[in-house]
Amino acid sequence: MNMKCRICGSESRMFLDFGKMPLANAFLKKEDLAKEEAKYPLALSYCDTCKIVQLTEAISGKKLFKNYVYVSSTAKSFRIHFNELATKLKFKLQLNENSLAVDIGSNDGVLLKEYKKSNIPFIGVEPAENIAKLANEQGLETINAFFNKEVVNEIIDQKGKADVITACNVFAHIEQIHEVIDNVKLLLKDSGTFVIEIQYFIDTIKTMTFDNVYHEHLFYYTVHSLDFLFKKHGLQIEHIEHVDTHGGSLRVFIKKEAIPDETYFQYLETEGRDKVAEFHTYELFAEKVNFTKKNIVELIKRIKKKDQKIVGYGAPAKASTLLNFCNIGKEGITYIIDDNPLKQNLFTPGNKIPVKDFSHIKEDPPNYIIILAWNFFNPIMNKINKIYPQKFKFILPLPSPKII
Ligand SMILES: [Zn+2]
Repeated sequence: MNMKCRICGSESRMFLDFGKMPLANAFLKKEDLAKEEAKYPLALSYCDTCKIVQLTEAISGKKLFKNYVYVSSTAKSFRIHFNELATKLKFKLQLNENSLAVDIGSNDGVLLKEYKKSNIPFIGVEPAENIAKLANEQGLETINAFFNKEVVNEIIDQKGKADVITACNVFAHIEQIHEVIDNVKLLLKDSGTFVIEIQYFIDTIKTMTFDNVYHEHLFYYTVHSLDFLFKKHGLQIEHIEHVDTHGGSLRVFIKKEAIPDETYFQYLETEGRDKVAEFHTYELFAEKVNFTKKNIVELIKRIKKKDQKIVGYGAPAKASTLLNFCNIGKEGITYIIDDNPLKQNLFTPGNKIPVKDFSHIKEDPPNYIIILAWNFFNPIMNKINKIYPQKFKFILPLPSPKII
């Protein structure tokens, strides 16, 4: 099924269909298990004109983000990441007590906290009610709303225009992307910098981490597509860095007027060699995704045939894509351990696998642990091995399933 591109209005062609899936964070309570779950198509399409990859169907933001269970500060690696980002911004953009830093999709204030430590005035904007509340309770001023024109005017009235606006891991989520960029332009000083962090689709292709495709992620960016999008709004990418979060992301610095540095040209050139502007690249990716699915399903079948028990570790949103796409239920993975108390004692969307806390591994030990939060593979494996030396075998599901 083809569709009209949300970025440029041309025709966008579908290349990968995951089938109908529940929302990745729609964990179920025990009493809801018998009820029918809402499921929505999940498929990717590519636009030949602006080079963007996007979902064929969007789910309204209100449905997705009203009660979010993802809290950035839970993971130590994210706290370190945002500490590094704040330090970089402070020095590169020379932020001080007279600056204003705005963070869009500020979550529980993981970046705001760093601004506070450095005495840089800040404000966060976060649509999830429960998470914005967590931030405000810690004294990290956060407006509970979508980043719309009203909010922008409120910030300008109260605090003036921004020296830096950040949007980390939110730019892929927003359907009203043009409106958001217009609002960023309105709020940003002429000398200001807009900094985004986005999962890099080239990394997704190279590492085969297709499980980061889910309804919350509407857009899948390359530098080619970002360049088209920002130029359309009269903005210019100045500088690009690669960061390790979420299996490979880009940190992109954008200004109203800028002379791009060599990183910008290097990325465009490398992407040209990687053929990001050719539909065939995406068709090939889809073929490999289906092949990997087959391998994962076969591996689990092989283990289960020997009457051995597999449990999962980590129930991030991406686990929902992987498990639902591979159609693995609790007959394959008995339960999943997750360290986030908001998810414990619930059931995964679609497959209805129970989510337990870490202590459960002692009560009901498995033979294999498949690490679904693969971006934390080593820390998780090390943590478990320390407590239970060489007791379990570990499975890394992607880029292709491997027993370690
Ligand atoms: Zn397009």
